Amino acid sequence: MKKALVCGGGGFIGGHLIKRLKAEGYWVAGVDLKENEYGNNQADYFLVGDLRDPKVCEKIITSDLDEIYQLAADMGGAGFVFTGENDADIMHNSALCNLNVLDEARKKGVKRIFYSSSACMYPEYNQLDPENPKCSEDSAYPAAPDSEYGWEKLFSERLFFTYHRNCGMEVRVARFHNIFGPQGTWHGGREKAPAAISRKVAVAKDGDTIEVWGDGKQTRSFLFVDECVDGVRRLMDSDFIGPVNIGSDEMISINDFTKMVIDISGKNLSIKNIDGPLGVRGRNSDNDLIQQKLGWAPSQPLRKGMEITYAWVKEQAEKAGL
Ligand code: NAD
Repeated sequence: MKKALVCGGGGFIGGHLIKRLKAEGYWVAGVDLKENEYGNNQADYFLVGDLRDPKVCEKIITSDLDEIYQLAADMGGAGFVFTGENDADIMHNSALCNLNVLDEARKKGVKRIFYSSSACMYPEYNQLDPENPKCSEDSAYPAAPDSEYGWEKLFSERLFFTYHRNCGMEVRVARFHNIFGPQGTWHGGREKAPAAISRKVAVAKDGDTIEVWGDGKQTRSFLFVDECVDGVRRLMDSDFIGPVNIGSDEMISINDFTKMVIDISGKNLSIKNIDGPLGVRGRNSDNDLIQQKLGWAPSQPLRKGMEITYAWVKEQAEKAGL
């Protein structure tokens, strides 16, 4: 039986990844600052611990592990990463997790380790035109991410590749593009657009107005979490080290995205565009490389994933009495 550790296993994607690894027959350990808030924890062993502390890494990273998935990061949506207020925490906390986990894995002789980078590491100058963003893997340099979150991801990608070159470790690096789905953060300030817009629509009454940050013409693509986990597992089982995009190439403007959620809800709502933290003007996953290397592409349209996600967020909002 293969043994895996999911760092950040109490988080959104971590919880889904643990579930997937269990379904594949793995023995799975998880570690996180917190337990999964929505009970999505099927790990055989789970440690609540802080990966900034090398002693926690020493305890949880054992030499019998076949694989480590390093997902732990101090992160959130635009309201967390683009205000500038959390930059020191984002850089310090995430870099420390990556430095500690990777070095402990080397010491224990764990051969294969996955790292979740982000599309936020792509240069802003290629994402100014909402209709034509460029996010192919080879467009990363000259580097110019628009957030410290993106800079830290770029640093850590490079860190992982140095351990590959100098220490013989099998690293796998993916750049996630806006992952969404049930059991993700949906309120509190760290939620990302799909959950935030679902919540706003879920609590609204017919005739209400939904506030959307920016002019709504900014574009993005969103990938359903099960598809993301599938891409991660394919990459891990392949001999391709990356970096590779794991995202959807179904690009949509934020106003059209909001209209889609309103339509799913069946409510009669209008949109009001207001000032807010934004990020780049346009972003879309370029899936040529992943298609070529892993034969992977998203299997379902955005709307299908959003129907599931909207229903889940609505249920959470109702339970919370919103
Ligand atoms: P998440 O916030 O739900 O998960 C991250 C987890 O890391 C959290 O549970 C958090 O408690 C944990 N963590 C943070 N600091 C820690 C520490 N010091 N010690 C132990 N655990 C710690 O976010 P997610 O959406 O599941 O993202 C997982 C990974 O994917 C992150 O690295 C994130 O940067 C990356 N990513 C996510 C997206 C997305 O759209 N969700 C996009 C690009 C990249």
